[in-house]
Amino acid sequence: MTQIENVAVTETPQVPIEKIVSLCKRRGFVYPNSEIYGGVAGIYDFGPLGVELRNNIKRYWWWSMVQLHDNVVGIEGAIITHPRVWEASGHVENFVDRLVECPKCKQRFRIDHLPPESLATNKCPNKDGGELSEPRNFNLLMETYLGVVEGERMQTYLRGEACQNIYLDYDNVQKSSRMQIPFGICQIGKAFRNEVTPRNFLFRQREFEQWDLQFFVHPSEMEKWFEYWKQFRFDWYKGIINQKDRLRFREHGSDELAHYAKQAFDIEYQTILGWQEWEGIHWRQDWDLSRHSEYSGKDLSYTDPLTKERYIPWIVETSGGVDRTFLNLLLDAYEEQPDPTGKDNDRTVLHLHPMLAPVKVAVLPLQKNKEELVTTAKGIHKTLQRLMVSQYDDIQNIGRRYRRQDEIGTPYCVTVDFQTLDDQTVTVRERDSMSQIRLPINELPMFLLERVSWK
Ligand code: ATP
Repeated sequence: MTQIENVAVTETPQVPIEKIVSLCKRRGFVYPNSEIYGGVAGIYDFGPLGVELRNNIKRYWWWSMVQLHDNVVGIEGAIITHPRVWEASGHVENFVDRLVECPKCKQRFRIDHLPPESLATNKCPNKDGGELSEPRNFNLLMETYLGVVEGERMQTYLRGEACQNIYLDYDNVQKSSRMQIPFGICQIGKAFRNEVTPRNFLFRQREFEQWDLQFFVHPSEMEKWFEYWKQFRFDWYKGIINQKDRLRFREHGSDELAHYAKQAFDIEYQTILGWQEWEGIHWRQDWDLSRHSEYSGKDLSYTDPLTKERYIPWIVETSGGVDRTFLNLLLDAYEEQPDPTGKDNDRTVLHLHPMLAPVKVAVLPLQKNKEELVTTAKGIHKTLQRLMVSQYDDIQNIGRRYRRQDEIGTPYCVTVDFQTLDDQTVTVRERDSMSQIRLPINELPMFLLERVSWK
């Protein structure tokens, strides 16, 4: 039996964000939130295909971070916490963007995002822009209130970063799960920031999701674990993209480092937006647990069961964005391929990794008006549907149906034709190479599972 191989994608030009925005809306990946009311800047909803892709991305992260590491466990914390948490974390005081405004074009800019010429001349980067205003501080935390009785309501915040719950639950997790240092706690969850300049689709939103690992170590082992997780996370991203040379580390300069950090690296990916942070790997030392010990009055130190040494664990943090992953993967996967014969058969294809693709297989009867083909195809779809996301489609000719599946990244299409009725075999078409093989129907589940499962 011929093996179907995934063909490596050749270097493709950078994809404009607008192409992804349009595909996402057209095919049901992402919609603007509250669109019928005019929308809300920086907030999005995920449609039927978007939620599948998003869930796959998150499940794959969880699988490789939690399930495959004996010394890592997971939690899911609440979005609202005690307000003191954000004082202890430093967010109430320091979680600010410094902004300038252009009186002419009315646009606001984060100082740290201004091009060097604008910084030097204090001029708006837009053509015909004016003199920029004095910088002002904006706190990014989103306020909310608990309680209904006026005067007794408690002001607090929607969490500005998800990882704080991990520090808050650290002691409970350590004791209830009998974890010994070194060990880690993972979480995937929503975070909220009043970004003053939300832009670039999912790249900078006001409501978004983060994935964090906080790995607790003895100070003498910090270097070793920092290196381990730094490399692990880099390889993880590398494993799910096609354009591998568009991924790099960027080490933070000494002026960017927090006072407790010895090292920090961003994993960056290059898109049409330039090289941008995808995930941060941070050397957090004992800052977080010490601060929460101090502010809460609860001692969060750890006693080594063998040596009886007592210390506040140091932390390696890996913190990335689910939505940025979603966007980067689409930018990485998107390709428009002109028809080599010059006929009207161009295709748009998403080269998503098969294990992340929202739909794994489409089952297509060659013709819709042949009852036996339709019944057989529906039967195959019903069997496959129990194992993976499968779509049945009999609308329009087979070429159009292949194109529709290519555009949403479906790695395999199964076609039921007249030969199927004779010998119980089907055609399996692979998305990237468009190569086809014939396979007995009863071998399909194994064939597909091997190719779309976590690896
Ligand atoms: P940036 O410098 O881009 O504002 P950050 O350094 O503040 O990001 P962190 O606080 O370290 O980001 O958050 C961890 C991850 O969360 C980032 O690497 C990014 O993937 C994601 N993230 C942060 N802010 C946003 C946002 N507004 N929208 C979408 N994802 C975000």
